[in-house]
Amino acid sequence: MKLFSFKNFLKTTLFLFFILLLILIVSGVSYFVIDKVQKKNNLMDIEVYSPVSSLIVEENPIKKSKYPFVDVHSHQWNMPLSDLSGLVEEMDSLNMGYMINLSGSGFATFSGNQSLMDLNLSKSLDNVKENFPNRFGLFVNLNLNKIDDEDFAQSSVDILKDAVKQGAIGLKIYKNLGLNLKDSKGNRVKVDDPRLSPIWNTCGELNIPVLIHSGEPSPFFDPIDKFNERWLHARQKPGSFRPSEKYPSFNTVMKEQSNMFKNHPNTIFINAHMGWMANNLDELEKHLDSLPNVYTEIGAVIGELGRQPRRARQFFIDYQDRIMFGKDTYKKSEFDVYFRVLESKDEYFDYYRKRHGLWKMYGLNLPDEVLKKLYYKNASKLFPSIDISLFE
Ligand SMILES: [Zn+2]
Repeated sequence: MKLFSFKNFLKTTLFLFFILLLILIVSGVSYFVIDKVQKKNNLMDIEVYSPVSSLIVEENPIKKSKYPFVDVHSHQWNMPLSDLSGLVEEMDSLNMGYMINLSGSGFATFSGNQSLMDLNLSKSLDNVKENFPNRFGLFVNLNLNKIDDEDFAQSSVDILKDAVKQGAIGLKIYKNLGLNLKDSKGNRVKVDDPRLSPIWNTCGELNIPVLIHSGEPSPFFDPIDKFNERWLHARQKPGSFRPSEKYPSFNTVMKEQSNMFKNHPNTIFINAHMGWMANNLDELEKHLDSLPNVYTEIGAVIGELGRQPRRARQFFIDYQDRIMFGKDTYKKSEFDVYFRVLESKDEYFDYYRKRHGLWKMYGLNLPDEVLKKLYYKNASKLFPSIDISLFE
């Protein structure tokens, strides 16, 4: 029997070549036709459409905040190893006096290996202590996957105590709690799960705040259709959405979170991203009124505030003792939009990320005293290690 026939090989190659050629021709023609039809009907992709505003109004771009500020919600993943001097230079240029790195354990957080996380936190703390002790605060991270282990509560308590002894100033809880985290039986761990109570109680005893991110913006739980105002987000980052077949509803997660706050009145919680209620400030008011142990920060939700300047301004005045500055993703070039929304009275200016909102921003023109509280005074109350004399 002949295993290899050159004739057959040639035949197959030629056949595949023609198929490939056919695919190329068909897709080329389709592309050409679609392009022609789109041009003829004046159609274009929503991501391409970038109209330049013809509105002529006063413009006051702000590259540096009016007062020094504390960013209470930052992630620096490589702090155990990185040289921090470049970062400090950037912080100076923004007027950021102090940064709280919620990811003290760095990349090890993704490994789920608690001893590696603890080791990385120690290294990060050493790096800060040796180089810029007045500029950074670090949060400890806990691996909640072992929630059913016999010694889970005790070992979590020990980790917290040890981290605080070494200099950590808070605990960060990631959004997997309430969404993806499962226990050993495969059940979703609710935000108000009693197995986590020893952790919250210990933070209260140690007098360190817990910054917690629960859920996602509410449109991420809604159907992805033409009515969803985060439709573009769904197209660019489909994994961010939380379809009801796989996830609890927005309201379920939020209720669990409020319940957990209520059950631990002696612990200070920072409800990250304005608790995903920046688009419903009436609701956030009720939340803060009923939970005196809860604070919030504005990370990643400036786009919600900048589209309702009058309502948001009133909110910042009424709740001036409860809100702090946060940014989340650290990118130097994006801070100016935060400053401009908070400080200026500019109208109709651009936000930096289309998928967060297809709308324009307006300045809140916050009073100086409110700005100071937002920028650093409230943070310095929650984090006494911040040396406020450097700010004034
Ligand atoms: Zn974050």
